[in-house]
Amino acid sequence: MAQLSDDCFAFGGPMMSVDEAVGIIAARVTPVQEAETVALQEADGRILAGDISAPLPLPPFTNSAVDGYAVRSRDLPKGAEAAFAVSGRIQAGAPAAGKAIQPGQAIRIFTGAPMPDGADTVFMQEDVRLDSAGRVVLPAGLKPGANVRPAGEDIPIGTAALTKGRRLRPQDVALAAAFGMTEIDVMRRIRVAVFSTGDELVSPGGPRKPAQLFDSNRFMLMAMLARLGCEVGDLGILRDDRASLADGLKQVAGRHDLILTTGGVSTGEEDHVKAAVESAGSLVLWRMAIKPGRPVAMGIIGGTPFIGLPGNPVASFVTFVHVVRPTVLALAGATQQRIVPMPVRAAFSYRKKISRREYVRVTLRQATDGVPEATKFPREGAGLLSSLVDTDGLVELGEEITQVEPGQTVGFLGYSNLM
Ligand code: AMP
Ligand code: MG
Repeated sequence: MAQLSDDCFAFGGPMMSVDEAVGIIAARVTPVQEAETVALQEADGRILAGDISAPLPLPPFTNSAVDGYAVRSRDLPKGAEAAFAVSGRIQAGAPAAGKAIQPGQAIRIFTGAPMPDGADTVFMQEDVRLDSAGRVVLPAGLKPGANVRPAGEDIPIGTAALTKGRRLRPQDVALAAAFGMTEIDVMRRIRVAVFSTGDELVSPGGPRKPAQLFDSNRFMLMAMLARLGCEVGDLGILRDDRASLADGLKQVAGRHDLILTTGGVSTGEEDHVKAAVESAGSLVLWRMAIKPGRPVAMGIIGGTPFIGLPGNPVASFVTFVHVVRPTVLALAGATQQRIVPMPVRAAFSYRKKISRREYVRVTLRQATDGVPEATKFPREGAGLLSSLVDTDGLVELGEEITQVEPGQTVGFLGYSNLM
């Protein structure tokens, strides 16, 4: 396990911006060191443990980009049609050896087939015709080198193609396969323990008393962690009691790379997570300048990082994105990926406080003029699960903005980009 010092998350200011939070996390969280080897089929979403440079050029050999006729461009008359005898045929996968082209001849060739020696240009079959003598009639004006894919035009041999820390996507796995690799070295998955806290919570499936509700946050957080490639430990619900909270937290420390809780971190009398973490390790409250989002508790328990998210589902979701996601990526050894908001047109008006970043839940649709347009969810409560379910993403309103009017361009973050 990566060990962190107790004051690792200390922060001097009264209010922390999202960028400050990400900066502290990136600078102070130590990534896991252990790597493992996985088959290509298991590599999607994993974090690359070392650089991969091209062991062969792509494409590996010069080949035809189309079905047609390969020629030597210097045999073609300037500005006039030509009729060449067809002296051979090369299919994809067939060797071109022994099929060297002779002056004034063409060779029938297919997409992906190796170019015969001497040939440098391919006429598409749609652009030619065969005359009565069986010769191929080639139109004037084709550029030398047309319709040929030179060896290494995609990736020259030795190119640094994939770098350590990349979160692998399907196309990255395809590149490793094109290099002939069967396995990839990736960082081991980080292990995250997830607890909910609150006397009012009961797990789905259990008997629910009148003043209880089913725990939903834990399942949202576990699903988001799984999407980030974590191995998730479901530790259930902890009661609102300092001693049992402290016990529960101490038990998992050291056996996980991160401990995550939801609920119990406000400053109410029944919010015991803060005191429990203080007794089990060390804690700082990050008062983040974001809405929705209450204080986020950051701590260290037995060298293991701890994050306590607020209990309201929307606050929990938004703070997950800004604090847990960068922490998980840092622990997992991933290069931080700044998510670039997509410009969309606001179909709503909104007022906000300066120097606070706010996130508005919106649905996205294409307006009649083709521009993507964001419609605000009609209600704002941080407890409304429907506001996350019935929307497509968040409009991010920066610290400097105080007002949005319909028609204005704003930045949109789709939910699927956030995990
Ligand atoms: P807290 O942060 O513990 O004060 O909780 C704030 C609100 O979020 C309360 O209404 C809680 O009932 C609710 N809440 C806390 N944890 C969860 C959870 N795991 N699932 C659903 N709602 C929760
Ligand atoms: Mg609570």
